[in-house]
Amino acid sequence: MKSVVMRDIGGPDCLVVQDVPKPKPSLGEVLVKVTATGICYHDLLDRAGKLHGPQAGSILGHEVAGEVVELGQQVSGLQIGQPVVLFHRMFCNQCQYCLRGRQDLCRNSGILGSNRPGGYGEYVCVPSRNVIPVPANILPEAAALAVCPIGTSVRAVVTVANVHPGDTVLITGASGGLGLHQIQVAKSRGARVIGITSSASKEEIIRSVGADEVVISTDLKFSAEVWRLTGKQGVQAVLENVVSSTFGESLRCLAPNGIAVVLGNTEMKKVELDPGLVISRRLRIEGSGNPTLQDVQRALHLISSGQVKPIIDRIVPFSCAAEAHSILEQRGVSGRIVMKGWREH
Ligand SMILES: [Zn+2]
Ligand SMILES: [Zn+2]
Repeated sequence: MKSVVMRDIGGPDCLVVQDVPKPKPSLGEVLVKVTATGICYHDLLDRAGKLHGPQAGSILGHEVAGEVVELGQQVSGLQIGQPVVLFHRMFCNQCQYCLRGRQDLCRNSGILGSNRPGGYGEYVCVPSRNVIPVPANILPEAAALAVCPIGTSVRAVVTVANVHPGDTVLITGASGGLGLHQIQVAKSRGARVIGITSSASKEEIIRSVGADEVVISTDLKFSAEVWRLTGKQGVQAVLENVVSSTFGESLRCLAPNGIAVVLGNTEMKKVELDPGLVISRRLRIEGSGNPTLQDVQRALHLISSGQVKPIIDRIVPFSCAAEAHSILEQRGVSGRIVMKGWREH
């Protein structure tokens, strides 16, 4: 089969198209023909060797849509030809966390494309419990985003922040891949959304996905403006995609008993915390990451019903993976680059 192989750790040119043996499903596994794969920032970190994940010769890709083509022994409940999306965490389904439905906390797990061959190829094999059927009205390029950016957004907004109609939600890094989907998920819950961005050029896209207010803050001192916009009431939830340069201001924006959901760690820096503010306002701070299977089901429903539109910057053939990685590395995109088809460009 054709495949984009990472021939070494390094720059985008380490991604090369090669013929590799087509995988065979073993006991409990399913062979899936890949129809579309999203390129995540995580793939770039893996390729550059920053996450101790894949080695030379690996096939990246954890945002994978496809269709079932072969069932291994002891697989039931799936049909040949069925459109599916792959749950990217290889959870064990036996530990105390998995048994509580918290696949995101499973420690016996790896990630598709990081610890086993992923979706940058024509076919991929995964355990059947990682295969999630997709409603017929969702295109492959949209389905590819159901787990990582959209499922992660559902987890943060719905499951962790538990956003309700009438709440006001503040989103930092609002124009990013997570932010643009979080805005839509929060609107689907009946919330009012305030997006924070440091760049005036991003206001249009933030508004276009449904944000009610956009605060352009070049110095990232946005709490006074948020206080004004909420009539001095504060916000019920902050989705913190930036954290390192924004966290103090975000906490100041919260209403009593509000929650700050921590998702971003791009700069990997520590932040200061004002304990007096946390205590006096009874603030809650909670981390959020990978979705669970239930979060992905909710994400698929939101996409299928049109309440969340996957933000796709462009669709390119798999053979352009290296070029797509360098475009993403230069941050020249709003939304995902999705690979689909193998024609030469
Ligand atoms: Zn991803
Ligand atoms: Zn487990």
